[in-house]
Amino acid sequence: MSTYSRMLNKQKDFFYTAKTKSISFRIDALENLKQAIKKNEDLLMSALKADLNKSAFDTYTTEIGILYEEIKFNKRHLNDWSKPKKVKTPITHTGSRSFIYSEPYGSALVIAPWNYPFQLAIAPIIGAIAAGNCVVLKPSELTPTTSGVLRKLISETFPEEYICVVEGGVETSQALLTEPFDYIFFTGSIAVGKVVMEAAAKNLIPVTLELGGKSPTIVHEDAHLKLAAKRIAWGKFTNAGQTCVAPDYLYVHRQVKQQFLNELQHAIIELYGEHPLTNDDYTHIVSEKHFDRLTSLLNVENQWYGGKVDKDNLVIEPTVLIDINWSDKIMEDEIFGPILPIIDYEELTDVINEVNSQPKPLALYLFSESNDVQETVLKNISFGGGCINDTIYHLSSPHLPFGGVGSSGMGSYHGKSGFDTFSHKKSIMKQTTKFDIPLRYPNVKNGLKKI
Ligand code: NAD
Repeated sequence: MSTYSRMLNKQKDFFYTAKTKSISFRIDALENLKQAIKKNEDLLMSALKADLNKSAFDTYTTEIGILYEEIKFNKRHLNDWSKPKKVKTPITHTGSRSFIYSEPYGSALVIAPWNYPFQLAIAPIIGAIAAGNCVVLKPSELTPTTSGVLRKLISETFPEEYICVVEGGVETSQALLTEPFDYIFFTGSIAVGKVVMEAAAKNLIPVTLELGGKSPTIVHEDAHLKLAAKRIAWGKFTNAGQTCVAPDYLYVHRQVKQQFLNELQHAIIELYGEHPLTNDDYTHIVSEKHFDRLTSLLNVENQWYGGKVDKDNLVIEPTVLIDINWSDKIMEDEIFGPILPIIDYEELTDVINEVNSQPKPLALYLFSESNDVQETVLKNISFGGGCINDTIYHLSSPHLPFGGVGSSGMGSYHGKSGFDTFSHKKSIMKQTTKFDIPLRYPNVKNGLKKI
């Protein structure tokens, strides 16, 4: 029996003690998780600085603070979410009552990526704990310092038969994927999402896939350009563009293009300074491989702003490329870095048709003051989620399910949808024994029958 089989068996044994089914156990676990994060805040700040050069401000707002909110929301609503829900019963079933019970799956495997290596590892665990599951977490090997802190924090807080961390790379992930977990929650690339789903199919394990892709942003002619530029610059260049829901590329209406570009330049300088390469608060690229992939997309001909790089420190300036079209290399795959290509347009219908000819995006952002334009885009393009007149912000609301559609993913989490994701919905009909309606039985002519 492999180490992972033994570990999973231990978790299954623990799960069947029914300890995780107690609501107070789950609430205590969420509180303990919060306290553990609080205790390790400084360590986390330095780990994220070491792995990605993330500033303390970015680490707090995008990796830690967001988790405190998620824990608070789960603790507040858990009692209500976990109660059996009474639902209507059809007249044909007179005498009985119907309920939906939320029951935990058992032991969940959570596989996390490197771009928000703490937040994207812990956020699914919050949903899994709230729903009463055990968890095995596999963090990304590309952010090893944060991975080490995750292991320390979790092992100091929870017994391994309840929640544990397995560090390692692709082989570790592949070995874990052969085990009969009760649920798999994967965050990462589309290519690996397919590998995960194939492995899950072998054991018929339900999955949530939080994937990526090219997320469009549209700046219409009636947009509030100054705010659009600032919110796009922030959404694109925070974490050096290594954000699954970052605006991947922009469609800008030809009539406002020049004015928008001027505003964008101001916004980039305001947020990241005149010399981002030496700005100590600007995030670095995670690895040399990703750095080389990104710099191969830089192209002097279309470069309108930025473009300078520092290979020794793996930094790329916020860079804007203009006059781009769909035949350019940068439009082939998700960019996942601080390079922003801009395509001009005149007719919104062309934008809608072009976006619809691509795989369904994880996010879409539209900047327009017009209700009609907003509704037209919302009704005619399918995407995971997004914002009108903003970028990225939708993902930090616990009231909004977060997830993709089509190749950008399946399933969702955050707030109640995280709880629901990690819960099987068990339908139960409670039948009366006071009388019996014999109509369902063969050869019965009379109606209601006393027993
Ligand atoms: P990745 O798919 O390369 O890796 C994710 C995890 O899968 C890692 O833990 C890695 O060890 C493991 N893995 C890698 N190759 C594997 C294989 N062949 N078999 C089994 N496991 C394997 O993704 P990444 O580079 O860490 O993250 C970037 C991608 O993730 C981008 O596409 C981004 O859009 C996406 N992403 C999506 C979300 C979301 O919430 N939808 C969030 C962050 C990142």
